[in-house]
Amino acid sequence: MPVPKLEHLEWDTPMYRLAVEQLDGIAERIGLDENIWCRLRAPQRAHVVSFPFRRDDYSTVETVYGYRVQHLTTMGPTKGGIRYDCGVNLGEVTALAIWMSWKCAIMGLPFGGAKGGVRIDPNQLTRTELQRITRRYTSEIIDVIGPDRDIPAPDLGTDMQVMAWIMDTYSQQRGHAVPGVVTGKPVEIGGSLGREEATGRGVITCALEACRHLGIQFADSRVIIQGYGNVGATAAHIAVELGAQVVGISDFSTGIYDSRGLDLKRVDEWIAEHRFLEGYSEGDEVSNPELLTMPCDILIPAAIQNQIHERNADALHCKILVEGANGPTSMEADRILADRGVTVIPDILANAGGVTVSYFEWVQAAQQFMWTEDEVNQRLISLMQRAYRDVLEVAEREHVDLRTAALMRAVIRIREAKRRRGIFP
Ligand code: GLU
Repeated sequence: MPVPKLEHLEWDTPMYRLAVEQLDGIAERIGLDENIWCRLRAPQRAHVVSFPFRRDDYSTVETVYGYRVQHLTTMGPTKGGIRYDCGVNLGEVTALAIWMSWKCAIMGLPFGGAKGGVRIDPNQLTRTELQRITRRYTSEIIDVIGPDRDIPAPDLGTDMQVMAWIMDTYSQQRGHAVPGVVTGKPVEIGGSLGREEATGRGVITCALEACRHLGIQFADSRVIIQGYGNVGATAAHIAVELGAQVVGISDFSTGIYDSRGLDLKRVDEWIAEHRFLEGYSEGDEVSNPELLTMPCDILIPAAIQNQIHERNADALHCKILVEGANGPTSMEADRILADRGVTVIPDILANAGGVTVSYFEWVQAAQQFMWTEDEVNQRLISLMQRAYRDVLEVAEREHVDLRTAALMRAVIRIREAKRRRGIFP
């Protein structure tokens, strides 16, 4: 079967290429017919918006670009986060939307993938500017989102407060409160208990499953986490609660490594006061690329894409790599790590805890019924364990790595749904 060509696509960027090459890598193996293959490579709907954004000084007005991509509308409403970052573009958002489709399919959630973004540096925004830009972006995409249509959530550079503003803007236009339009909201307006910690909790659940399978004691292991935001910090705390040692962490300002284990309480106090890690005195200061190569058992990239590639994959010292971030590992690095016997738990499985509890939040909004935190955590852990074991079963049966197995499961599930629905008209 010939691989369809990728020519003249507006969203063709390196990150999009990575998502498509991963799909191409399994398409022939599962005998994917060319029509569905081509359909899954492209977003079903892509919205590009530009709008004026007034700074706090009230005289500077900038033109800002925003995106919302809906990759797959076959499975139910679309679902995925919104990121604020200066590098956001149509290709990045499309790749992230594709990965969301795979994540939802692996977890068995009734959603297709979506993603949105605004090309802006959130670290340069005041709180009022952040609110203004969020409300305007929401009103630009208001017709394409909704609880039955497409449900945003937090991602890089956005948080529960941003979700609250999106929910408020949407609700003002509809004339009544619509909590189901976003997930990852504050609990006071219908957010789910356990949602903020869900991605980090899912990451650690996967690490535990891998340790069990490989015969490694999680409680004795040394963990390094790149990125100390929502996902990384939660994963670090849960790892320590379970008896592991967190020996290295970083944020975009710097990294720190201490082979005796870091005191996270002191780290948190430092960050609460100084916002970033830079200047923290415990341990050795290391750069972000150096941190990835320091000795550890479990490495968790939980920051941004494209961190592990052919130039550093040989230098990693971990036994297990758990992808908390989306797209941190290149295809070449995947091959190098597989040859070296490093177990890679792919993003589309490892970080799917976030969207899983988003699904719980959406269900709670629809039913107007709140679950306890314990219920949320237990259901999350059992769904993650089941997904991990399902993917592992495919990997062992087909003699492939976990990423290939996860992709195979996801795409087969979507293919069957597409076949059942048929083509209109
Ligand atoms: N942005 C998160 C992700 O990449 C969560 C998406 C969601 O909860 O809908 O998986």
